[in-house]
Amino acid sequence: MTEEELKAERKLILREYRALLKNAKREMDDADRLLIRKAFDLAAEAHSPMRRKSGESYIFHPLAVARIVSEEIGLGTTSIVCALLHDVVEDTEINLDDIESLFGTRVRIIVDGLTKLRGAQFGEDVSIQAENFRKMLLTLSDDIRVILIKLADRLHNMRTLESMRHDKQQKIASETLYLYAPLSHRLGLYNLKSEFEDLCLKYKEPELYHKIESSLEKSKAVRTRFINRFTVPIRKRLDELEFDYEVKIRSKSVYSIYNKMVNKNIPFEEVYDLFAIRIIIESDEKNEKSDCWQVYSIVTDNYQPNPDRLRDWISTPKGNGYESLHTTVMSPSGKWVEVQIRTRRMDDIAEMGYAAHWKYKESASENALDEWIRRIRETLENPDPNALDFIDDFKLNLFSDEIFVFTPKGDLRNLPSSATALDFAFEIHSDIGARCIGAKVNHRLAPLSHELKSGDQVEILTSKNQSPKEDWLRFVVTAKAKSNIRTYLKEDRKRIAEDGKEILERKLRNLKINLNDENLNKIVNFYRLPTSHELFFKAGLAQLDFSKLAALKKDSGQLKYRRPKRRNPDGLKRIVTNFNDKGANLVIGDSMEKFDYKLSNCCNPIPGDNVFGFITINDGIKIHRENCPNAIQMMSKYDYRIVKAKWTNQESIAFLAGLRISGIDQVGLVNELTKVISSEYNVNMRSISFDTDDGIFTGTVMVYVNDTTHLTELMRKLRNISGVSTVSRIKGDKQEPTFTQAN
Ligand code: MN
Repeated sequence: MTEEELKAERKLILREYRALLKNAKREMDDADRLLIRKAFDLAAEAHSPMRRKSGESYIFHPLAVARIVSEEIGLGTTSIVCALLHDVVEDTEINLDDIESLFGTRVRIIVDGLTKLRGAQFGEDVSIQAENFRKMLLTLSDDIRVILIKLADRLHNMRTLESMRHDKQQKIASETLYLYAPLSHRLGLYNLKSEFEDLCLKYKEPELYHKIESSLEKSKAVRTRFINRFTVPIRKRLDELEFDYEVKIRSKSVYSIYNKMVNKNIPFEEVYDLFAIRIIIESDEKNEKSDCWQVYSIVTDNYQPNPDRLRDWISTPKGNGYESLHTTVMSPSGKWVEVQIRTRRMDDIAEMGYAAHWKYKESASENALDEWIRRIRETLENPDPNALDFIDDFKLNLFSDEIFVFTPKGDLRNLPSSATALDFAFEIHSDIGARCIGAKVNHRLAPLSHELKSGDQVEILTSKNQSPKEDWLRFVVTAKAKSNIRTYLKEDRKRIAEDGKEILERKLRNLKINLNDENLNKIVNFYRLPTSHELFFKAGLAQLDFSKLAALKKDSGQLKYRRPKRRNPDGLKRIVTNFNDKGANLVIGDSMEKFDYKLSNCCNPIPGDNVFGFITINDGIKIHRENCPNAIQMMSKYDYRIVKAKWTNQESIAFLAGLRISGIDQVGLVNELTKVISSEYNVNMRSISFDTDDGIFTGTVMVYVNDTTHLTELMRKLRNISGVSTVSRIKGDKQEPTFTQAN
């Protein structure tokens, strides 16, 4: 670089620095400015020999990060100082002690957190990545500013991704979409989130991105005219009522337009909600709600609202603190238009997320955010060693929307959508989760796996005999429930194995078999188990037939047993019982020895159904569907007699299933029904009965099908018959409670 160029660059750097001071969102005094100057001088000096990939002086990067932190996230002096210093420890001679002596302990802690995050770059190895993410979140408990500055750092790197190598671009963009976009969403930083997403799309789908961008540009003038005309009557009325307000146009991000086009498979022109109109009003905190609803009424006086699309995030703010009133109304030209109504305070929180909470300390929504951070910490503090599980669970929580559920006393709890009754139980308390046998959802009995909906009122039923089961992991979604169950299962397994070891040792002494590794290995082989741990575990569950051991040849305490030549390829043993010696297999128990089973006739399970086994006294194991009407009673009263059961490779064999059909009675309908049933491949009808009442028929058909897929297909065809309105599978028959015979 020539002397001239260097001089020009220094000028540019100083201009950036002045802009940083001038545009700061928060009040600053001389002491603040002095501190920022000190940090800037230190960083500029320390980074001076370094250049970025683009060729520009390195100091532009920390300056830009500091500006994002200040102007776009709204943080104050400490954060600006830390942003300026965020790469200093990693890249230069300056160390943390230097920073502490110049800027104090707080700045040291934050810069230390940022350095650790950077040092632990997300590598190729997913588990390392997960571990790093965990570390990143752990810093939440030190100071959340570490995360916010990290987000600003990533945003600037994304904005300047152009100069990176292609493969690096792809990697960084994917990582951003996977971690940083959802994280900023969760922290309520919507602007950051959509910029992250747009930038990712720009590098992952460049062609589509540019196409959407230029279409947006081309249609801009038309859109502006439309919006101006649309808001005229609303503005007029707001002026009359002397509201202090601002109307903003929120264009949909390129990324969300892209998602709509892909998910709905429509061209750009058919994405109807390209923008939303936002009305921001100045309002006293105590009048906020009524003011917003007054604006709502002004909007809907002029335009017809769509009742399905009213979202009231004011009465019930989102978990991340978002508050707003959304409605979609019909414009005179026949287009739906979304209108968002909120106060200035709500808008600040929506735009700047956490940072704005400092400004409005008393707001109720602060609790929701605290609640979220509390939940993250709880997950992190749980001693679940598997970081990979953690990230999956956590990501699930980040992406899914939330539901609101009530306790019997009317307290509101906030869960990810598709959470089940069991998740709710663990949310209340880990002991309640561990002892949960079922729930009353809106006063009706429901199984553990029952998926909750917003507004449900849930009462948990517990039993002191209950304990967490492996199967529970299939239907819980919250990280809290999952890690609690896993921890419990592991402890339980260990305890059983320890008991089993004692039992086995006693048995061997009785049989005069020496207790040594060689014999132990032979016994492991004899039972075809993978490890001695598994052997002890089985012994603890009383699943080993010890009488067979007595028959083994031995010579002065040493076993002579030799393993047969043929071995199980995977070393694991799977016990399978057959139905009629062919076709549909059912695996029962943790891997129990052969058992006969019968399909219960109260709920007629078929392959593909979720099932469990119930040990009866006289009739072996009976298989029930998990949603069998008798299931809750069996599980609560006789939980120790429940065994796991699962269908495996199914083949064509017939199972009985019942269907309930209703619709409008008309000539030839029964004929039509039977024709469809008999023409369906491999379906046989056992019985059919119909009732007619005032032109409405209800009928029950019992059919033989192969499995649930087969049945679903048949039900679909029946629904297509004109006149038929509902077709549902009969859950079961409460009259035949199989468990009574077991007493
Ligand atoms: Mn950086």
